[in-house]
Amino acid sequence: MSKISEVIARVKETYGKTEPEFVQAVTEVLESIKPVEEKHPEFLRAGVYDRIVEPDRVIMFKITWEDDEGNIRVNRGYRVEFNGAIGPYKGGLRFRKSVNLGIIKFLGFEQIFKNALTGLPMGGGKGGSDFDPKGKSDNEVMRFCYSFMSELFRHIGPYTDVPAGDIGVGAREIGYLYGAYKKFKNEHTGSITGKAYEYGGSLMRPEATGYGLLYFTEEMLSHRGKSVKGKIVAVSGSGNVALYAIEKANEMGAKVVFASDSKGTIYDPAGISGEKFAFLKDLKERRRGRIKEYAEKYNVAYFEGKSVWDVIKKEGIKVDIALPSATQNEIHREHAEALVNLGVIAVAEGANMPSTPEAIEVYRDAGILYGPAKAANAGGVAVSGLEMSQNAMLLQWTKEEVDERLRKIMKHIYREAMDASVAYGHPGDLMVGANIAGFLKVARAMVALGIF
Ligand code: NDP
Repeated sequence: MSKISEVIARVKETYGKTEPEFVQAVTEVLESIKPVEEKHPEFLRAGVYDRIVEPDRVIMFKITWEDDEGNIRVNRGYRVEFNGAIGPYKGGLRFRKSVNLGIIKFLGFEQIFKNALTGLPMGGGKGGSDFDPKGKSDNEVMRFCYSFMSELFRHIGPYTDVPAGDIGVGAREIGYLYGAYKKFKNEHTGSITGKAYEYGGSLMRPEATGYGLLYFTEEMLSHRGKSVKGKIVAVSGSGNVALYAIEKANEMGAKVVFASDSKGTIYDPAGISGEKFAFLKDLKERRRGRIKEYAEKYNVAYFEGKSVWDVIKKEGIKVDIALPSATQNEIHREHAEALVNLGVIAVAEGANMPSTPEAIEVYRDAGILYGPAKAANAGGVAVSGLEMSQNAMLLQWTKEEVDERLRKIMKHIYREAMDASVAYGHPGDLMVGANIAGFLKVARAMVALGIF
C-alpha cells in the first residue's frame, strides 16, 4: 500500500464516524496528489503525508455571554491552527449552529492548499463557534463576540494567526471581534482581516471572493474560446460570496437566474440585475431578511425548502454556468447529472466543498470545466493577504490597485493549477492541479524547515 493510501485509511478509521467532512477533504486532497508520491521521495523521508493531516494546534474553548433577557448562554469556540509552514495561520471564522470540530478541521485543512496557491505567504487555519447570529440583537452579537475574543486574543496576532469572516461572520461581527482584540491587546495591527476601511481594512475585501470567482471562471472559459458574457448563470446562496458573484456576473454581461438562502430558492428568468439586484443586496446584507421577499416583490417563482440544484433537477431548467456559493455538500450526484444532462459548460465553486465526491466524478466524466473551491474561491483570502500587507506597511491601496492585484492572483492560480495538472500527468484537471500545486509549496517548506 502506498504511503498516501495508508494515511487516508488511518484518517478514515480514526475520524470516519466523528468528523466525516474532515475525512472527505483529506481523502479528496490526498487521492489527487498521488502522482506526487513517486516523484518526490524527499517528502516520504520527511514524513510529510503523516504530518500534513495533523493540525499544528487545536484550541477549543467555552464562550459565556448574557442574552437580552439576562439568561446566561454558553457556546463552544474553536480555532484550528492547521499548518504554519509557509506563513502565519490564516482562515476565517464561521458562526453557525451546525459548527463542530470536524467542520472546522475540514475547512482548515482545505485552507492550507488554497492559501499556498495564492502565492502569498499564508499558512492554513480556521475557527468558529456553534453560535448563530441569526435572530440575535446587535447587543447580543457584540457581547458574544467580546466573550469569544476574550479567549482567542491570546492565540492570534499579525505574525501568528490572522482570522477573517466566513458564514455568519460579516462586517458587523468582524467589527466587534476586532474591537475586542484591540481592547484586550492594546494594539492596532493586522491581526484580523475583513475589517472596514475606516479602521484599517482593505478596499475590495467584501467583493473579493465573489469577484475572484468570476475572474477565475472567465479564465477557465477563455482557454476554451468562451466567455462569461451572454451566459445563463445559477448562483446558490445570497450571502457575501453569492451577492458579489451575482454583481460581477451581471457586470460581465451574464444573466443570473437563481439565488437562494437556507429557507428556499428563487428563480427569476429575466435575471437578478439592476434594481432587483439592489433590492436583494439590501434585503440580505442590511436587513438580514429572507429571500422569499424577493419572490413576493417581483412575482417570480419561489421554492420553499429547496436548493437551487433541487429546482434545476426537478424543473429541468438549463443553465450554462453553475456557481455554488452557499455551503458544503450542496450538489449531490443527481444534481450534477441534471446539470450536465441539461448542458452546463462550467461549474466553479464559490463555497468550500459544495460538491460531493460523487458530483465531482460526474463533472470530470462529462469533461465539463470544473473550478474547484480552493482555486476558484481563493480571491477572498488573497485580498485578506493584501490587507495584511497594507496593515504591515500602515497604508491603504485604492480599489483599482487591489482589484488589479486580485485579477493577477486569480490568473496566477489558474496557471499554477493548470501547469501542475500537466506536469503530473492529468492535463486540464484543475482539481488535481490545484491540490498538487498547493501541496508542493507547503511540502517543500516543511522539508526545508526540518522535523518539528
Ligand atoms: P454568508 O453567511 O454571508 O452566506 C451564506 C449563504 O449561504 C446565505 O445565503 C445562507 O442562507 C446560505 N446557507 C448557509 N448554509 C446553508 C445551508 N446549510 N443550506 C442552504 N443555504 C445555506 O457566508 P459566505 O458567503 O461568506 O460563505 C459562503 C460559502 O463560501 C461558505 O462555504 C464559505 O466557507 C465560503 N467562502 C467564503 C469566503 C468569504 O470571503 N466570505 C471565502 C472563501 C470561501 P441564510 O441567509 O438563510 O443564512
